[in-house]
Amino acid sequence: MSPSPSDVLRSVFGYESFRLQQAEIIDHVTAGGDALVLMPTGGGKSLCYQVPALCRPGVGVVVSPLIALMQDQVEALRQLGVRAAALNSSLSYGEAARVEREMRQGALDLVYVAPERLLTAPFLDALDDCALALFAIDEAHCVSQWGHDFRPEYLELALLRERYPGVPRIALTATADDPTRREIVDRLGLAGGRIFVGSFDRPNIRYRVRAKDNPRAQLLSFLRQEHAGDAGIVYCLSRAKVDEVAAWLCDAGVPALPYHAGLDKAVRATNQDRFLKEDGVVMVATIAFGMGIDKPDVRFVAHLDLPKSLEAYYQETGRAGRDGLPSDAWMVYGIQDVAKLRQMIDASEAPERQKLIERRKLDALLGYCETARCRRQVLLDYFGERLAEPCGNCDTCLEPVEVFDGTVLAQKALSCVYRTGQTFGAGHVIDVLTGTDGERVRQFGHDRLSTFGIGGELSKTEWKSVFRQLVALNLLVVDVAGHGGLHLGPDCRDALRGERPIELRRDRRRERKVARAAAGAAAELLHDAADRALFERLRALRLELAKAQGVPPYVIFHDATLVEMARRRPRSLPELGRLPGVGEAKLGRYGAAFLSAMAQPSGG
Ligand code: ADP
Ligand code: ZN
Repeated sequence: MSPSPSDVLRSVFGYESFRLQQAEIIDHVTAGGDALVLMPTGGGKSLCYQVPALCRPGVGVVVSPLIALMQDQVEALRQLGVRAAALNSSLSYGEAARVEREMRQGALDLVYVAPERLLTAPFLDALDDCALALFAIDEAHCVSQWGHDFRPEYLELALLRERYPGVPRIALTATADDPTRREIVDRLGLAGGRIFVGSFDRPNIRYRVRAKDNPRAQLLSFLRQEHAGDAGIVYCLSRAKVDEVAAWLCDAGVPALPYHAGLDKAVRATNQDRFLKEDGVVMVATIAFGMGIDKPDVRFVAHLDLPKSLEAYYQETGRAGRDGLPSDAWMVYGIQDVAKLRQMIDASEAPERQKLIERRKLDALLGYCETARCRRQVLLDYFGERLAEPCGNCDTCLEPVEVFDGTVLAQKALSCVYRTGQTFGAGHVIDVLTGTDGERVRQFGHDRLSTFGIGGELSKTEWKSVFRQLVALNLLVVDVAGHGGLHLGPDCRDALRGERPIELRRDRRRERKVARAAAGAAAELLHDAADRALFERLRALRLELAKAQGVPPYVIFHDATLVEMARRRPRSLPELGRLPGVGEAKLGRYGAAFLSAMAQPSGG
């Protein structure tokens, strides 16, 4: 008799109930149906094929393009007592032969395999001899030629349908746009199956965007006040900046490591390994880092530079909080960032049509940065999903920003740029506007201009915010090739005459309500000091157990499970087994150790 999906969920994974769509998907696939599953990162896609693979007779074959991810998933499954293995180029001939033999003997529940491996004649022959539970095609957008992750071997996966007609196939991806979706259905022959589109909302991520003031200091206070001891990622645009910021954070006492494509391969591998296997490492990285990183307890993703588009932003920030615990997406940005990105697009070799698309994407991103609406609503809107109510978990919800009529201010700013000759940077123009009688202002005779001192109603900081917004609106353009001088944008006429209403947002000087209360996001969930101390002890025990096996701590227990232990303090194995994330295998392996840690008097 095969076990039911909810039995498997409880006994193997230790979870109480399926998330929204999981149950439906799992029932459908377990019953033998094909499916395409679209869910955001962290949405819970893995269970959608792991559970059916365990419920159906035979081995589940999972096609995955990323070796690092494969290893990680296999390790996590083994910890759950699932018989899982990976087949990829990192295995020796002998190891690979053993996996294939076990597969033939029916001694495996799940086999992860790289697509090129799957398509070899010997492997297909081996499959012919096996009872097959299902095929799962992970990162299915790799089949799309328009996407940036295209893998030619993925196209050949279409043969699975003809060769194994009775075996259900489930394709999964976090890329949700329509063209990609159609391509997947088309190329993998999934037209007869069902499509499941999950919500792309990630409610546990708190989105915040701040005006760049002193970015390093802003970052440091964010880390110290809200994420002491937490793991996270800090994204920067350039390799040089990654190195600088990582070194600087280390000096400031934050355990930070750099990661970018310019580093030696071995260094990259070591840094990535430390990020996964140690607690509380901060990775400072370019976008070269992140693909295939499945660490569930990344508590924050910080951007010191603007990402390229909202798609990129959502993908990058989506790496935070896969375990569902409170997490932060935090970004600072300023006028120079906009200038830099615009200039990168202009200078690129791409055809004009492509540049046009990229400019639009950048504008959408800037619209997000400058919005006074709920950020989650703006994000989900962009991905074609409607969120009926403001989310209550982003900076604009927690601390609504004031918008005001900036028509006159814009007019003053633009005409001052014009009068000073369209070559000076914002700092100088603001000096003129605010009537700052400095040497440079007098040197150019700008104290005699009609716009000198006409902007006394705002402070310099407030003017900076206005200028940033005018640049975001394309009314002003920053000349990056030169010295960052500003000139009027092509569509500034109406605004210059004061004939186009301009709405601006008033930036906050200080962050208040939105900041988290306690240091360490997981600890934030524990209000009692004794519980927090216990949580730290459990975390230390977990690290010790993980080190002994050379595995990441989160494959032993997730933070969410440790939080529940600290809160509920179970006294027996059956009680412990009722906590989320404690399945039978883990209870047997680690139950006693954790119970005894919980039984110790606090402070010990
Ligand atoms: P994805 O592959 O979509 O990025 P995962 O499958 O890695 O997401 O799941 C994200 C996290 O959510 C994992 O830590 C997983 O253990 C957890 N999770 C998934 N489904 C459930 C559930 N039904 N109950 C509790 N936790 C779940
Ligand atoms: Zn909101």
